[in-house]
Amino acid sequence: MSQSPERTGTPGTLAPDVVRGVGVSPGLAAGPVARLAPPAGEPAVSHLPAGADADPEAARIAEAARTVAADLTGLAATVDGERRNLLETTAQMATDPALLKAAAAQVREARVTAPRAVWDAAGRVAEQLRALGGYMAERARDVGDVRDRIIAELTGAPVPGVPRRPEPFVLVAADLAPADTALLDPAQVRAVVTAEGGPTSHTAILARALGIPAVVGAGDGVAGLADGRIVLVDGGAGTVTPDPDEAAVRRANERAAQVRTFDGRGRTADGHLVALLANVGDPAGARAAAAAGAQGVGLFRTEFCFLDRAEEPGVEEQVAAYRPVLAQFPGRKVVVRTLDAGADKPLPFVTDTAEANPALGVRGLRTARRAPEVLDHQLRAIAAAAAAEQADVWVMAPMVATVAEAEDFVAACARHGLPMAGVMVEVPSAALLAGPILARAHFASIGTNDLTQYAMAADRTLGSLADLTDSWHPAVLQLVAATCRGGAQQDRPVGVCGEAAADPALAVVLVGLGVSSLSMTPRALPDVAAVLAATDLQRCRELARAAVDAESAESARAAVRAGLPVLAELGL
Ligand code: PEP
Ligand code: MG
Repeated sequence: MSQSPERTGTPGTLAPDVVRGVGVSPGLAAGPVARLAPPAGEPAVSHLPAGADADPEAARIAEAARTVAADLTGLAATVDGERRNLLETTAQMATDPALLKAAAAQVREARVTAPRAVWDAAGRVAEQLRALGGYMAERARDVGDVRDRIIAELTGAPVPGVPRRPEPFVLVAADLAPADTALLDPAQVRAVVTAEGGPTSHTAILARALGIPAVVGAGDGVAGLADGRIVLVDGGAGTVTPDPDEAAVRRANERAAQVRTFDGRGRTADGHLVALLANVGDPAGARAAAAAGAQGVGLFRTEFCFLDRAEEPGVEEQVAAYRPVLAQFPGRKVVVRTLDAGADKPLPFVTDTAEANPALGVRGLRTARRAPEVLDHQLRAIAAAAAAEQADVWVMAPMVATVAEAEDFVAACARHGLPMAGVMVEVPSAALLAGPILARAHFASIGTNDLTQYAMAADRTLGSLADLTDSWHPAVLQLVAATCRGGAQQDRPVGVCGEAAADPALAVVLVGLGVSSLSMTPRALPDVAAVLAATDLQRCRELARAAVDAESAESARAAVRAGLPVLAELGL
């Protein structure tokens, strides 16, 4: 089979200076590199002159923090959805009293200047967060971002972050802070390349949501990508080619200019139907999904409505949060997931942040062991919202590991008059027990992000393990195959709602394994639909076999991509 090395990314066949990473948002793009403005770095230890009053110096910190927060809040007002949330969260963190008090105390007690005091205090806060692990540890990077912005404000240095240039560019960075990702403007940023980050990092999820081709986890290779150098980024294959020839740049630009749409009917070339659904977290996301032609919602992440809440939201409030999402899809399927609290998404009213291993702890459905009333209230709210709207509401629980859990959840849904009750398959045990689980539950939806994390024993938030948190690993695909076999035995539908569904090449494999619906960020719908529409079911099955039989994620991806010439034709 003939294949162009740049398209498949097979190691050893690439030109020597091609940089390899993990392709997390498909598409081809070319342009000059613009490196993320680096933070000014650690300020020197400088002390206040003897006898000088420390109070005015300490007061500068709160003032600078207020300016940073106001700037971020102003930027937040110019965007919406997840991008707005990220900016607002960073703005709040900029005026976090714990950080500001500690920094002011440092000025008064150690008599160091304000920038140094902010540096030291932020270091201690970040250390405490890292010690908590999981989601809290991730927030340590946000503290670093806020620290750098306050120091830039105090010293008059340029604000670190995404550069502003007259021409579109390829953004290259060690990693992107959430506030940076929130400011990515697809008209400005043609592609993103980062040294760190994995397929489920903030960068990857937002790049996909914005339709910006992205390669993450490129490691030391980014060092050679100097500012202004022209590069060609292939966000599907995970490659960055420096100094591409003119024809390649022209092809990339032509493809980027093509606008594909989804006609609202997912199918293979021979007419086998595959429902193409959307993942949403709030009403704005649901509106975007409906506008993109999604056939329904395959994953409504209800916890996103309540991430900043210290207390359980009341039933009425929940009904009010769910109804506008359901209202976007009258007569269509909307799969509502019950609260997936814990690990990277702690909700103080059900999770315990003191656990040593939160990803293996009381998260997802397991929180109902500790707080059964929270699940009960939520099911009541979902049932009320469903009764008030026209959507076909299905309900599913995250992190189901046993047959008994599935049985209990289905029974709880039935008590609330919710007839379609399913499970997420995110834990390998659930994949292996899919037969008996689906004898109880009405459907399964595979969460490939967590299924990959647990199959590979690799924290999905760790950029340094990006090569392991890759859903192309044949071990993960074998678990998908096992789930589909369980579904076929019981005649129950099996869908996928993890990020894997948004990768057009992997979507072909999933359909070949027997998955009947794919749920993804709305931006990915046209690409996934186009590749499926060009591939018949038999070919999907052959490629699925090749992927499952491969020995590594890399060879599975390379084999499937080489067998799908349509990817190159569509620039994916
Ligand atoms: C998953 O784990 O694949 C999934 C869809 O759930 P989340 O990403 O919200 O954990
Ligand atoms: Mg999950």
